[in-house]
Amino acid sequence: MPGHDIHIIGGGLAGSEAAWQLAQAGYKVRLSEMRGSGEMTPAHQSDRLAELVCSNSFRSDDADSNAVGLLHQEMRALGSLILTQGDIHKVPAGSALAVDRDGFAEGVTAALEQHPNITIVRERVDTLPAEGRTIVATGPLTAPMLAESIGRATGKDSLAFFDAIAPIVHRESIDMETAWFQSRWNKGSGKDYINCPLSKKQYLEFHAGLMAGEKTEFREWENVPYFEGCMPIEVMAERGVDTLRYGPMKGVGLDDPRTGRWPYAVVQLRQDNASGTLWNMVGFQTKLKYAEQVRLFRTIPGLENAEFARLGGLHRNTFLRSPELLDGTLRLKSAPNIRFAGQITGCEGYVESAAIGMLAGRFAAAELAGTDLPAPPRETALGALLSHITGEAEIETYQPMNVNFGLFPPIEGRTKKADRKRMYTDRARAALKDWLAA
Ligand SMILES: Cc1cc2nc3c(=O)[nH]c(=O)nc-3n(C[C@H](O)[C@H](O)[C@H](O)COP(=O)(O)OP(=O)(O)OC[C@H]3O[C@@H](n4cnc5c(N)ncnc54)[C@H](O)[C@@H]3O)c2cc1C
Repeated sequence: MPGHDIHIIGGGLAGSEAAWQLAQAGYKVRLSEMRGSGEMTPAHQSDRLAELVCSNSFRSDDADSNAVGLLHQEMRALGSLILTQGDIHKVPAGSALAVDRDGFAEGVTAALEQHPNITIVRERVDTLPAEGRTIVATGPLTAPMLAESIGRATGKDSLAFFDAIAPIVHRESIDMETAWFQSRWNKGSGKDYINCPLSKKQYLEFHAGLMAGEKTEFREWENVPYFEGCMPIEVMAERGVDTLRYGPMKGVGLDDPRTGRWPYAVVQLRQDNASGTLWNMVGFQTKLKYAEQVRLFRTIPGLENAEFARLGGLHRNTFLRSPELLDGTLRLKSAPNIRFAGQITGCEGYVESAAIGMLAGRFAAAELAGTDLPAPPRETALGALLSHITGEAEIETYQPMNVNFGLFPPIEGRTKKADRKRMYTDRARAALKDWLAA
């Protein structure tokens, strides 16, 4: 790449932000984007950079009590192009940051086109470059040939094709007066799972709710076959009233401490992060509509007040087993000339993808300058997200994840629930300030 310091593949949310950070630091960037060269992904509709494929919302802009609002604030502090253009093209949406999608994407495209350090090339890249600094930011809909090349470079099983996800619950919102810790047949430590018991009546009502619940309709391109091992619960429910009770909801080998007996049915939750703040509903992948999931899952004893860090969903998605493949600065351990950024690393959402693009760009800029950029502290939203992707997450259950307080180190000591979010965000601001000063 004569004349360029770094090659970025993919001009979505992450690639655009990475390009901006590098260009602002004085480095010459070649940005390859396949849209505009006669290619299109199944979800995009234009050739603009940073096109929003679905909603126009960057979610909450509340930096005091919301993790994504905090992430907005941190990104603004670091000169984010995506947040700058988001603010310019803001539309009324209560406490959320929502944007005029066309104006936003046009603004990002114009800023990158006009930057003297950026050359945008409309081309599809089919193989991972063997040499030269590269950032791959091709998103959940990475073109198939490049996806194959990444698969070859990362090992056969390293590129996951993601079909269904199960909801994740904040541990502190589970009622442990009703639920209890126990592994089936007391295996492992004997207490590895949280169990929520259902009586026969509760189970039958739950089954009926699943059958009646409104499901998401898929566009044709999302009509992928289900894998037997990852069947949505409502599809299992359709197979018979007892299918779930002999599947993910079986109560055998679990002794409800309140009755001393096995429950008629059970919902199990498995720890999802190292600090134990997030718990995954085992086998509960679903394509029920979000509001329906919240309503129905809160009928489960112990989950009446459940707060969800992520709801279930079903769509085609490509992402890496990043916690084992990437180092702390998002480089591929087996080929450190290559960094990954955006949703392909296993973060979820426009803002998170841009945030990881921002970090990839900054890490690469530091490397080009011959210096080391320490990772942002884990107490910050940027640091919490980065550390989840690059090592903290459980690899066996690794799935795309929005930023949320469950990724942050827990606040020690007893605190009022009402105060806790503010404590997370105050701590994050102080940590970011120190990091920026250093
Ligand atoms: C159907 C769908 C709906 C979604 N809805 C939402 C939502 O409502 N809210 C939300 O926050 N998130 C949503 N997401 C997640 C969303 O994809 C990410 O949040 C975000 O767009 C990912 O950013 P990215 O930069 O990693 O990837 P993208 O924004 O997808 O950018 C990747 C870019 O790489 C290009 N590219 C791919 N392969 C190649 C190649 N071989 N050569 C050159 N260029 C290539 C693509 O054309 C694209 O421009 C949705 C995702 C999907 C798939």
